[in-house]
Amino acid sequence: MINLANGTIIIDTPGMREIGLIGSQTGIDNTFEDILSLSKHCRFNDCTHTKEKGCAVLAALNGGTLSRERYQNYIKVKKESAYYEMSYLEKRKKDKQLGKFYKSVLKNILKKKR
Ligand SMILES: [Zn+2]
Repeated sequence: MINLANGTIIIDTPGMREIGLIGSQTGIDNTFEDILSLSKHCRFNDCTHTKEKGCAVLAALNGGTLSRERYQNYIKVKKESAYYEMSYLEKRKKDKQLGKFYKSVLKNILKKKR
């Protein structure tokens, strides 16, 4: 927040970086299309493809139709994406608190002017 001498206040909006990262889930879907179409055959909808019984991705991995390297890449990217999306939500929460803070600062400034 920048407080200019003439009473104008510039409030920084959160960066665009997080917005780019939250879109990463779609990026994964495109890059790992084959794994994703396999995952539709998993027994569980919320399958993480790491240890579940009836996981079609693990079955393909064990059956040799899916390379171990590709599988590990997928798991790695998926983990990172989940991490970023979590921190994005946490940041949103903080922004809300910051918004309250800005409001109280503005109130004080307006009071002083009267
Ligand atoms: Zn699975």
